Amino acid sequence: MKLGVLALQGAFREHLQTLGAIGVEGVPVRLPADLDAVAGLILPGGESTTMRRLIERWEMREPILELAERGAPIFGTCAGMIVLAREIVGEEPILPLLDVTVERNAFGRQVDSFEADLPVPVLGDRPVHGVFIRAPVVERAGPGVDVLARLADDRIVAVRERNIVATAFHPELAGETRFHRLVATMAAEHDDPGEGAGRRRHPTRRARTRT
Ligand code: GLN
Repeated sequence: MKLGVLALQGAFREHLQTLGAIGVEGVPVRLPADLDAVAGLILPGGESTTMRRLIERWEMREPILELAERGAPIFGTCAGMIVLAREIVGEEPILPLLDVTVERNAFGRQVDSFEADLPVPVLGDRPVHGVFIRAPVVERAGPGVDVLARLADDRIVAVRERNIVATAFHPELAGETRFHRLVATMAAEHDDPGEGAGRRRHPTRRARTRT
């Protein structure tokens, strides 16, 4: 099983390294065809405005939406969370897969970056060490969204809605592997849905039923 990391822009190498550290093969994804081999996709941090432009230019929009619709896990960190939000304050959404409203650069100019230990009950007792770099915050989470982590002031910084996971911070910059393990587990379950539950839209499968 392979996990893709969108490698158009931003901090994708650190995600590939984190996957390597937990024994999962990570592949850089730059073109729609790169998605064929992956059971899930990570959208890294970087600059969401640039990512928006490159996703359009390389025609990655529809293929990523289709991958998500098939139930493959998609995990966005920081700019990746912004890319996945259904609503971005003051901007059009990019890949609106997650029923949240995010505000970009929510911590203002004074506090460009900071680190925090966050309780994330679904990942166990040990807190997650998160690195926040010009990070967004979740202003609204829809009814189907599980809040995974909040800051001490209660602001929401990690969420999950079915197969979509997103963090406002960078776990991959802090040697934190548990989010990647969670996503790899979700991908493995999706990749092997059990007997008789084949994937849809598989070209060879379609060809076979026609004969
Ligand atoms: N500030 C960036 C944006 O708005 C996100 C920063 C990051 O990914 N570290 O897209």
